[in-house]
Amino acid sequence: MIRSNIEDIANQVLLKYVSKGGAYKQFENILKGENIKYREIEADETKFAGVFTKAPNEQKYIMINSNMNNIGRKNFTIAHELGHYFLNHELKHAEFDKQVNEECLNKEPMEYDADYFATCLLMPEEKVIKAVKSILYRLTKGFYSIPFSITKSNYQIWAIICKDLTKRYGVSETALRYRLRTLNLLNINLY
Ligand SMILES: [Zn+2]
Repeated sequence: MIRSNIEDIANQVLLKYVSKGGAYKQFENILKGENIKYREIEADETKFAGVFTKAPNEQKYIMINSNMNNIGRKNFTIAHELGHYFLNHELKHAEFDKQVNEECLNKEPMEYDADYFATCLLMPEEKVIKAVKSILYRLTKGFYSIPFSITKSNYQIWAIICKDLTKRYGVSETALRYRLRTLNLLNINLY
């Protein structure tokens, strides 16, 4: 599926369920609204991250490994499983996701699409652009604009942006960097 279509579908979900704040704060609402049951399962973190599945009675479930210790990755995994649902992936049987890829590097098309959906749902394009511009302006009064190039000398500015946005969107630094790079908001020139 092409990226802009995935983005559109994520935006429709946002429009319906997320009036303000990070989408991760509305997971409960989304699950309830779509009649998906949520379960956490205790398992070895290397074995499984999450799964979207349907019971024989058609009840839909999202199950997530409760041992995932990175909250950003956990949110990304929930958003990824929602992606399988909202993108209407025909999953033949319960396909357990061993791990999601926060930089959308998965080569399997449905997995790539679900990762990209998670990126769009958790970090909506328009909001992210606005947020980066406004933090940069607040911190540097126009000295830096987008795309912001991280260097050794201004790394502190990046640290502030990163801390603010990972918290705001409930994502890991890896996921945030990927989103900002692909939206052309960020370059990294540390070496
Ligand atoms: Zn998946």
